Amino acid sequence: MLQDSIKYPIVVQLSDVPIFRGLVQNDQKFICGKCKNILIENYIIGDYIGLQIECFRCKEITETPYIGHGEPLSSTIISLGSKGRLGISSTVLINPHIIVGTDQSIEIAFHALQPRDPDPLCLSLSNLEYLVKLYDVITDGKFLVQSSKLKRTKNSDPLEFPFAWAIEYFFNCYKGN
Ligand SMILES: [Zn+2]
Repeated sequence: MLQDSIKYPIVVQLSDVPIFRGLVQNDQKFICGKCKNILIENYIIGDYIGLQIECFRCKEITETPYIGHGEPLSSTIISLGSKGRLGISSTVLINPHIIVGTDQSIEIAFHALQPRDPDPLCLSLSNLEYLVKLYDVITDGKFLVQSSKLKRTKNSDPLEFPFAWAIEYFFNCYKGN
């Protein structure tokens, strides 16, 4: 039940067909939280962020989820604005790589992408080690694999493993190599 926390606009389903249909075929659906009416067909989570959709059948409002904290956004984002009720009577087809949101939900998603630590990074050995640990958490331990491969193959291409390459470069600067 979202009726206590209505955010605008509300996307109103005006007929008994899905409001949106993704153009990439899949068997996922976004459904009304109360009566299970289909609101979005060929649904890809993350392509519709923070949309409050009012069901044609039962008038319940169900909100599409926000994408994961800090997930990158597609380059094409469509905002449905910030006001009122937006009635849609037939199915709108949604191209892949398009994200549909509202002014508010898009702002929240962008905010999650911004750097969390506003302080400039001080280059020190302990900070480099901290970054390596952080990278390993995010990538499930890829740093050692990547830096070993760089060393073993004497690879000097910074583009193959940019993070590992840069960290090793700074480590070497510290060691005076
Ligand atoms: Zn419903």
